[in-house]
Amino acid sequence: TAWSARRVRQTFIDYFTNKREHVFWPSSPVVPHDDPTLLFANAGMNQYKPLFLGIVDPKLPLSKLTRAVNSQKCIRAGGKHNDLEDVGKDTYHHTFFEMLGNWSFGSYFKEEAIAWAWDCLVNEFGLDPSRLYATYFGGNEKQGLTADEEARNIWLRYLPPNRVLPFDCKDNFWEMGETGPCGPCTEIHYDRLPAREVPELVNMDSPDLIEIWNVVFIQYNREEGGALRELPSKHVDTGMGFERLTSILQDKPSNYDTDIFMPLFDAIQELTGAPPYAGKLGKADPESRDMAYRVVADHIRTLTFAIADGAVPSNDGRGYVLRRILRRAVRYGAKVLGAAPGFFSKLVHVVVNQMKDIFPELEEKEKRVVEVLADEERAFNRTLDQGEKHFKKVADELLLAASQRGGDKGEKVAFPAKEAHYLYSTMGFPVDLTELMAEEKGLTVDRAGFETLLAEDKRQSAMAAAAKKEMGGKEIVLEAEQTAWLQSRGVEITDSSLKYV
Ligand code: ATP
Ligand code: MG
Ligand code: MG
Ligand code: MG
Repeated sequence: TAWSARRVRQTFIDYFTNKREHVFWPSSPVVPHDDPTLLFANAGMNQYKPLFLGIVDPKLPLSKLTRAVNSQKCIRAGGKHNDLEDVGKDTYHHTFFEMLGNWSFGSYFKEEAIAWAWDCLVNEFGLDPSRLYATYFGGNEKQGLTADEEARNIWLRYLPPNRVLPFDCKDNFWEMGETGPCGPCTEIHYDRLPAREVPELVNMDSPDLIEIWNVVFIQYNREEGGALRELPSKHVDTGMGFERLTSILQDKPSNYDTDIFMPLFDAIQELTGAPPYAGKLGKADPESRDMAYRVVADHIRTLTFAIADGAVPSNDGRGYVLRRILRRAVRYGAKVLGAAPGFFSKLVHVVVNQMKDIFPELEEKEKRVVEVLADEERAFNRTLDQGEKHFKKVADELLLAASQRGGDKGEKVAFPAKEAHYLYSTMGFPVDLTELMAEEKGLTVDRAGFETLLAEDKRQSAMAAAAKKEMGGKEIVLEAEQTAWLQSRGVEITDSSLKYV
């Protein structure tokens, strides 16, 4: 039988409930309502944070859990785990994705966690063991952390030594955010290509050799200020990319070529009349139509789930992240795929239809999601044209000046950082969009200069934050004018803090 996405999800859940005595515990909303350290749910473990820290209210049902399993709705578009810039360019990072996870709260530890991950992949899903690699934490002197030889030794029962590889904190010490539960992890990577030995490609961002499953041994809490505190008990927290696993089981070269995204691509094609998705792989190409397909399909999922869970696009906090995501999608749709104004909210129905059985909240909130997105799209269509016009004016002047100078035909003219920054801060054009527009004109963008201006923004916002601290953490009530000034400089203003986006 074929591995439909639905069957993949169910098989994972069934394995851990039926064979390993886990309780199915539903996904938390993608918008965390009770954790100010978090913009969006970025991993399955988020909702269990009080259990890991040993501070769960004993009256809550959560406190009774010792083993849990689910498929968690995640968004990684801000905060410590931010994949927005990669989305569309590669074929295995989404802003919204599902994370399949199993957890032990002081129940089992390394031995079982690794054995069951292996059993599940090889025996339930039938993955070819000769395509797998495992990584483990190689230690970090600076942080006073030793290598996880225990994990390594367990893996050596399943894999040859050249497929069990140590890595540093960046890849093998998992942290949820600046603070929170964390610990060394061991990860499983899968080679989409058969019969080769390429350990040097592991963790190198190759679209063919991808990370699929992270098994974290939660042992510490990262405290404010950076210190690591040992937790009262040891826990297991795992997360597997549902879309990545599905692409492997469906024998596709990319997450987007699966039955998770194809219905969306069909709808996008029908709505825009653009040529169909070609399933092109390879390097980032901002001009490619495929990238636009990926961006639009990814972003409609993110916005549908986020709004259904109570977020709204706005000028601050997570709402501002959503607004940026929407603008990115709307421009790619309009300019690259030729979509008519209003196309974006018409895709909500496709997402709802596809996912409502698993996430029934989507159907309940569908009408509202459509309304919110249609409004946002209308509003951006006003700035979109203004921004386009401004861009065109500056670009044409640059090109005219360049042609009058004569000059070297091969050398590209740079679109000024100041203008990119103006488009970014005032018209809401993310810099990657400006780069796309520039490329269409044969220009580059002064990205370094742009980053300098952003750094200046950051300095300003740090000053604002410091000023706030000096006030003894008291609430500052900002005047509308101050708010607008800060926002035009990229400062994210939330109820309780001033944060830089
Ligand atoms: P990567 O190195 O590929 O960015 P990660 O190490 O940041 O992944 P983890 O935090 O370990 O990811 O999350 C657990 C699993 O979730 C990963 O092994 C991967 O399969 C999946 N995953 C992570 N980020 C994404 C994403 N943006 N889109 C889809 N799946 C993802
Ligand atoms: Mg990542
Ligand atoms: Mg990784
Ligand atoms: Mg990882």
